[in-house]
Amino acid sequence: MAVLPLKYVGEAVLRRKADKVAQVDKPLARLLDDMVETMYAANGIGLAGPQIGVSRRILVVDAGDGPIQLVNPRIVDHKGRQMGTEGCLSIPAVYGEVERWKEIVVKGLNAEGEPVIYEADGLLSVVFQHEIDHLDGRLFTDLAVGLIDAEAIERDHEEEEEEEE
Ligand code: ZN
Repeated sequence: MAVLPLKYVGEAVLRRKADKVAQVDKPLARLLDDMVETMYAANGIGLAGPQIGVSRRILVVDAGDGPIQLVNPRIVDHKGRQMGTEGCLSIPAVYGEVERWKEIVVKGLNAEGEPVIYEADGLLSVVFQHEIDHLDGRLFTDLAVGLIDAEAIERDHEEEEEEEE
């Protein structure tokens, strides 16, 4: 397995609609394993293909119950709404409140090409929706209210301290 370089906001691949995977094969399964390793190395809880420069409909998530690898994911049912704070490995140090579906049902294929179905709520539901958005070229900052730039806050704070001196 290998840790792959991440793509950051401003790169075109993050705004492209990713292509559907026609066939799940060995190289794709290896790529999904590399994505899991990359996600863990970056302390992330989700990673989508475009974030490693691969414009294909693939994602990995781990919301605390172990890694899930999903190919051609689609939300087939949803219920309720929830607000939560989100960040993104491709947009370092920026956070914001995003409204999402509360409960979702996601269908797709696993790394063996077999159909799988996940009923998700809470954090797992949010991560799935965030990563599926990546496959459509959408970033959480498009949806977020009250964006917080942690680095800007730190800079402002440092400037204030300098002024006080
Ligand atoms: Zn993201």
